[in-house]
Amino acid sequence: MNAIDYLRISLIDKCNFRCQYCMPEDQELTYLLEQDFLTKNELLTLLKEVFIPLGFNKFRLTGGEPLLRPDLPEIVAEIISLKATQDLSLTTNGFLLTQKAESLFKAGLKRINISLDSLNGQTFEQIIGNHGKSRWEKTWAGILKAYEVGFNPLKLNVVVIPGVNDHEVLDLAQLTIDKNWHIRFIEFMPIGNGQLFQEKAWVPSADIRQKIKDKWGLEEANVKGNGPADVFSIPGAKGTVGFISQMSECFCDRCNRVRLSADGWLRPCLLNETGQIDLKTALRNGVKSELLQKNVADLLLLKPDINFKERNMGSNGHSYDRTMSQIGG
Ligand code: SAM
Ligand code: SF4
Repeated sequence: MNAIDYLRISLIDKCNFRCQYCMPEDQELTYLLEQDFLTKNELLTLLKEVFIPLGFNKFRLTGGEPLLRPDLPEIVAEIISLKATQDLSLTTNGFLLTQKAESLFKAGLKRINISLDSLNGQTFEQIIGNHGKSRWEKTWAGILKAYEVGFNPLKLNVVVIPGVNDHEVLDLAQLTIDKNWHIRFIEFMPIGNGQLFQEKAWVPSADIRQKIKDKWGLEEANVKGNGPADVFSIPGAKGTVGFISQMSECFCDRCNRVRLSADGWLRPCLLNETGQIDLKTALRNGVKSELLQKNVADLLLLKPDINFKERNMGSNGHSYDRTMSQIGG
């Protein structure tokens, strides 16, 4: 069986963007109350006493927008200082990176994924929700700041939506030629956004890959990441292009991850809502770490079955109620 050693940790469910595919503006969302968040100390207790003893050693901080969490640099420093930590990375929309990139780097974070769905200000606004002011420039400045500060690898996540940003695939891929940046094209998923998905559907990775190949050629890159991306490079390019194809492919059999929500629910599979455990309430009720460890270990044993069950999204209009921002994408 595949080792499950990668924990994606959502630190917050709120966000300063309202991306159409993640938290559509017309959808009313209820947010967690401050007291419902796992505190930094609770998170560290879970890592040290439950997850690390079970073999977890790779962690990603996400959200919602994790840069909105004021204690983020301390959380980073604490996780980095754990002997078991082999890898720590962060996924962010980049909007606050001009202010925060340096402190995060100093705290020990070296790897970062920044979401950037368009190089065009107007398209970007359309995707992230119209707040009447341009946010593209500041996001771009955040990416440049992260680059300057030294984040490596620096990955850019692009969710490709037909008729919205799919015409920019080549422009985005081109960024990898001169810069050591890594673009990850992600197939759009029907999670928390039923209507948009039903209107637009998704673009298979194979089509995007072909487009790039027709223009420049593509070679398989010798990269073995933590994730499910298939990675290639344009000949002579400094960076890589990768494809995350959870709609067109099933990579459940090589899935090495589980997700912890900002309010402490452990979710064994992104695509399936069964089997979740409320670790925060258990911790606050004084349940002993040994028992929590056993409950998580039992859940990990069930994970292969959970993965394959009901993986029917998109095929029959099924979509998920929790948004990616609530799950921790
Ligand atoms: N706010 C941060 C960001 O946007 O990078 C981190 C959280 S966000 C939920 C994590 C990733 O999930 C982003 O790269 C985002 O593009 C992706 N995502 C969100 N909703 C998605 C969907 N419906 N389909 C595919 N990817 C999605
Ligand atoms: Fe916010 Fe990230 Fe979701 Fe966009 S994808 S709404 S930036 S959490």
